[in-house]
Order: sequence, then structure tokens, then C-alpha cells
Amino acid sequence: MKEGGRRISVIGTGYVGLVYAVCMAELGHDVVAIDVDEAKIARLAAGHSTIYEPGLDDLLRRNLDAGRLRFTTEYAVADAEFIFLAVSTPSTPEGAADLRHVREAVQKIARNIGDARPIIINKSTAPVGTGETLDYLLSSHNANGGTARELPIVANPEFLREGSAVQDFFHPDRIVLGSRDQAAAQRVAELYTPLRAPVVFTDLKTAEMIKYASNAFLATKISFINEIASICEGVGANVADVARAMGMDERIGEKFLQPGLGFGGSCLPKDVRALAYLATVYGAHPQMLNAVLQINAAQRQRVIRMVRDALGTLEGRVVALLGLAFKPGTDDIREAPSVDLARLLMNEGAVVHAYDPFAAEPFGALFPEVQQFDSPIAAATGADAALVVTEWDQIRRIDLGALRAVMRTPLVGDCRNALDRDAVLGAGFAYFAVGSGISGIEHVRASEPAGVL
Ligand code: NAD
Repeated sequence: MKEGGRRISVIGTGYVGLVYAVCMAELGHDVVAIDVDEAKIARLAAGHSTIYEPGLDDLLRRNLDAGRLRFTTEYAVADAEFIFLAVSTPSTPEGAADLRHVREAVQKIARNIGDARPIIINKSTAPVGTGETLDYLLSSHNANGGTARELPIVANPEFLREGSAVQDFFHPDRIVLGSRDQAAAQRVAELYTPLRAPVVFTDLKTAEMIKYASNAFLATKISFINEIASICEGVGANVADVARAMGMDERIGEKFLQPGLGFGGSCLPKDVRALAYLATVYGAHPQMLNAVLQINAAQRQRVIRMVRDALGTLEGRVVALLGLAFKPGTDDIREAPSVDLARLLMNEGAVVHAYDPFAAEPFGALFPEVQQFDSPIAAATGADAALVVTEWDQIRRIDLGALRAVMRTPLVGDCRNALDRDAVLGAGFAYFAVGSGISGIEHVRASEPAGVL
């Protein structure tokens, strides 16, 4: 441990916890990473990352070798000065955030800390009020030999983005620390000093709200531009240009303003649902959040309609999904548009082919019946439609001539506006993008005269 290094335990070794454990070790701290998943811990202890995240593998091995990082299924928290909670908070069927894992983790901490007085730092995205729940759980816990005690609790919401999580850890836009114990918040802030990021100190509930409000705003931007895209489609305007020019206005900004298949992943959908749920609990009417969710779900349906319209039917048609991860740079397919598209397509009798450079394994576990290929061209061979679902570079740079040569019906749906429209049309395809109707439909007619429009 470097001079000044602290003893840190991280509970949960998923996308957030693993990145945190590895990067805190890289900052020179002595880190124990804990998870209930034995297979995951065994893999990580052997130096193999369980997620794809640029830069993570090297840092993982380096810090394991340096002895600053270890992985265990034991709740090794008795020595910790800081305990980071990074367990999952999935949606319940009603849309609320499920706090089962958070509660379980806190109870296990209480049973295992002995006489220590660590600071508990919550990074899991959890509803406003969770910090107080943790406080209650810790101070009331005395079952099974646990000791009732008050421990300092700090809400420290996480803003890292999958696909650039390591980079985001070392270069955060801001650190938010909410607590009733300002001295504890200050000690947590010191852990982040080397990152030179602005720190926002606030109370517990405000910190929790900052996370939900931030994610809800990002989701709103995406649904907003998707709604504009459907209007553009009706009136014949070009949504890509609309979005680009809007984004040049610095009050608006270009980020999260790309029309496409809508938001997915493990955070935005569940966090918007959880905030809408929380609003109703407190008697508010979250009309805007509900609309954001509805527009998002409709985006997937719109793409299916476009393919059905172009091909006449989906029954027996082969559709290639190019890209499966919810965004480039990750292997995460949680709530990914590809999952909805595959379900909807197969439900209408289509045969789905798929390609993704990193997400093949999790997608295969969910859809063993979907044939996967090791290149976009292989996935599109014999297909009646190729859909750009995730804008990986391999897909952006696809050889359109080769694609045209292998497809049975020349139809490209650019669901991410990632390809050059004129180039696609020039290569002899029928083409549609989100926000634009189908162009070049005569190519489809020429290739398969029967059963199409
Ligand atoms: P994840 O599902 O990838 O990982 C959670 C891990 O916690 C799993 O490995 C699971 O086995 C482990 N776990 C569950 N219960 C446990 C327990 N009682 N003790 C020890 N380990 C336990 O989740 P994630 O994507 O890392 O997200 C974690 C939290 O961070 C969530 O609340 C999420 O909303 C939030 N968050 C995620 C991101 C992201 O990009 N993934 C970004 C910001 C915030």
C-alpha cells in the first residue's frame, strides 16, 4: 500500500464495483472486493475480467500482482476504513427499485464489522431515502451476533458510463457526496483528491435525487429527439441535420441527441421507472417521465414496422441484427434494444441472425435459438434485412459492396444513423433510418418480386 493508502472494501463486483475496486487499488489503496457470486470471484481472483471495459484487464492484473487488490466471497470488512456498496438495484415488476441486495449487503456488513467504525458509502442507485434506511438497518441490527451501531453514511452516486468506465473513474465531471456527517463526507472526498474533480457536498436525500434527476434528464433528451424524429419522418425533414444543428447551440448540447432505437442498458430504463414510481408514492404525477418511457418502447416497434412494411411480412424472413450491446464499448445487453428487436421479430416468425464483437456470450445465453456469426457480413449472408443496432466501428465501416453481394434482399435499416445514406442507396440497397421513411424500395421489389410491397 502506498503511503496514505486506505483500507477499502467494495461490496459487489459488477460494472461499477469492479471498476471501483480496480481503480481505487490503482490510486494506491488496499482494496478487498466482495461478491456473493463465487464463479465471478474465482475468475476475477485469477486475473480475468468478467466484463468487457477498455483498459480494465491491464489494471486488474497489475493491481492483483502488486498485492493491492484481492477478491473474496467472505464479508472481509472488519479492517475496512471505507466500505463502498455497489450491488445491483434492479426494477421490481411495478417499476420500483428493488433494494433486496442493498439490504442484504448492509445486514452482512453489520454482522461482520466487529468493533470497526467504517464509513459506509453507497454507490448503488437507490431511491431517495435509502441512506436513511441504511442508517436504520445498521443502527437497529443486532440479530445473529451483529452489533447495533451508528455508522457514518455517505451517498456517493455513480455517473460512470459503460464503455468508458475506467476513463470516467479517473476523469469524473463531478463527485457528489451527501451525508448528515460532514466530517465523514470530507474524508471520502479526500479519497478522490488525486482526481481533481469538483466536489458537491450535500445532504443524503439531495445526493440520491441528483443521480435520478441526471439519468431522467438524459433519457428525456433521447426520447425528445426520437419524438422529433417521428415528426420529421411525417413532414419529410432530415432529423440527423435537425439534431446536429440543435446540438451546436451550447444551451442544448449535442450529447444524447441522436435519434435511434431509444435508451437501454442497466441504468436509464430502470432509473426512470424508479423515479416515476417514487413520484407516485409521494402523490406527484410524473407525466413527463411516463411519456419518456412510452416513446422509448415505441421506438423498437417503429423499426419492426419499417422492416415489415418493406418486406411485406416478417414470416420466414431472415433479419440480421448488426450489434447487440446496448451501446458500443460494452458487452452489456441489459434492456438493450437488440433484445426487444429479437423478441419482436421472432414473435412475427422471422429468423434472426446476429453479430456483436463482444456481446455474443450474454446474448447467446438469453437467445440460444439465434444464430450468431463472427462478422457483420457473415451475419447478413442470406438475410432479407440488415439492421444496424449498435454502432460499433466494425459496423459503421461495413463494406457495402460485400454486404450487397451476400444478402438475399437488399434492405438496410440504419437504426443508429451510423451509415452514409447516399452510400447505402448508391450500393443498391433499400434504406431506412430512424426519422426517415424507406428509400430505394424498388431494389427490394426487383430482388424479390413476390410477397413484397
Ligand atoms: P451488476 O449487476 O453488474 O453488479 C452487481 C453485483 O453485485 C453482482 O456481481 C452481484 O453478484 C453483486 N451482489 C448482489 N448482492 C450482493 C450482496 N449481498 N453482497 C455482495 N455482492 C452482491 O450492477 P452494476 O451495473 O455494477 O450496478 C450496481 C449499481 O450501480 C446499481 O445500483 C446501478 O444502478 C448503479 N450504477 C450502474 C452504472 C452502470 O453503468 N452499470 C452506472 C452508475 C450507477
